[in-house]
Amino acid sequence: MPIDPRQPYDDSNIFAKILRGEIPCNKVHEDEFCLAFHDIRPQAPIHVLVIPKGAYVSWDDFTAQAPDAMIAGFIRSVGTVTRLLEVDGPGYRLMVNMGTFGHQEVPHLHVHIFGGRQFYQMIPD
Ligand code: 5GP
Repeated sequence: MPIDPRQPYDDSNIFAKILRGEIPCNKVHEDEFCLAFHDIRPQAPIHVLVIPKGAYVSWDDFTAQAPDAMIAGFIRSVGTVTRLLEVDGPGYRLMVNMGTFGHQEVPHLHVHIFGGRQFYQMIPD
């Protein structure tokens, strides 16, 4: 079910638990701004999630509330992860689902990195 993007941050969401190390993930990268790990149900040969280290429900919440240094650091970290995955050469797709219409399911901001194949249609449905 998609989340209500106006909800307060819920500390018990699955990505908060992954950040706290309470449940495992297949980690790709970690730095002061982010944790990156493989999606449990990959929708491309490479499907990695990058989440900020902070209590941000959504892209909207993050861009409204996060300090500039966090926003800059997090975006740079997404770039770092794409280069670690070596998808920067062939190219890749980034996606952020936001709120109900965006069909966001986990109420902690996450950037999807899709790679490893050619993509065509922008919004498949
Ligand atoms: P959303 O629809 O919110 O943009 O994407 C949530 C993503 O989180 C989905 O692609 C889903 O497969 C992934 N996901 C949900 N639970 C877990 C989990 O426990 N571990 C990992 N690694 N990914 C998860």
